[in-house]
Amino acid sequence: MAKAIFGGIEAGGTKFCCAIGDADGNIIKSMTTPTCSPAITIQEAIQFFQTIHKETPLTAIGIGSFGPIDLDINSKTYGYITTPPKSGWQNFDFVGAVKSAFNLPIGFDTDVNGAALGEYRFGAGQGLDTFLYVTVGTGIGVGGMMSGQLMHGLIHPEMGHIFIPHDKERDPFAGICPFHGDCLEGLASGPAMMKRWKIKSALDLPVDHPGWDLEADYLGLAFANYIMTLSPQRIIVGGGVMKQKNLIAKIRPRVLKMLNGYIKSDKIIQDINNYIVAPRLRDNAGICGAIALAEMVCKRSINEQS
Ligand code: ADP
Ligand code: ZN
Repeated sequence: MAKAIFGGIEAGGTKFCCAIGDADGNIIKSMTTPTCSPAITIQEAIQFFQTIHKETPLTAIGIGSFGPIDLDINSKTYGYITTPPKSGWQNFDFVGAVKSAFNLPIGFDTDVNGAALGEYRFGAGQGLDTFLYVTVGTGIGVGGMMSGQLMHGLIHPEMGHIFIPHDKERDPFAGICPFHGDCLEGLASGPAMMKRWKIKSALDLPVDHPGWDLEADYLGLAFANYIMTLSPQRIIVGGGVMKQKNLIAKIRPRVLKMLNGYIKSDKIIQDINNYIVAPRLRDNAGICGAIALAEMVCKRSINEQS
């Protein structure tokens, strides 16, 4: 029997990546396009898959999407992007749009859960059942697995928007989150760094600038809170801001300092370099995860039929 081929969409607020691949994590073909309006961008994605589907029928399509999204299968708006800050995408029926072009099983989850699944299948999450995938980029998002299941819940976790101590004497910056001001994303996302330090990209902040210590302090506080709340076996952290290659090394000792020996695990105390890690799939975690979401929904629909 020919190997099943899956489609994957990594839908970000800045760009869409579409790819086809197999269940072993091989990407056969991909394309990337900027995120414009749904009419333009979804049409481009559909055309990409249609051309391939004619020659090589796809088995399912997986979508890892920016959010917030509706993941409640019993909801009337299941499969929608609901209230994103990105204009033009409010109340957009993402699953419906793809389903109307392809009568295939469609997997749907958050972009960060998608990336977590990619790392679980092929990267730094292999063999773990409870871990986090954090992205620090235009926003801060966290997905992951709890006891072998992708994290969902009432809607889905929004751990980028937690509140952390904010010393306004040291850092008078008010924060940029339109909902919360100085939540973690408001203080530590790429655009927060850009506004605080008046730079065009976090990339432009010199490596020895004290802003990186502040950034590491905020992320260290957040990670310590995640560890105490969810007890992850590992934290995988990616996203554009983490491309500053000293940052991860600055975060680790801060996490240890916050925990102060209370969490008695050698995985943290002895082996922090393997506990807080970069994505092993680097920039491919999201797209490999979207393909894995397709495989997952396909297995689920086979189980439901049998
Ligand atoms: P998105 O979150 O839209 O998917 P990214 O994860 O690439 O995109 O994050 C974009 C952010 O990362 C921007 O705010 C930019 O300032 C920052 N960034 C990109 N490259 C670097 C770098 N090399 N060092 C530090 N920050 C970076
Ligand atoms: Zn917020």
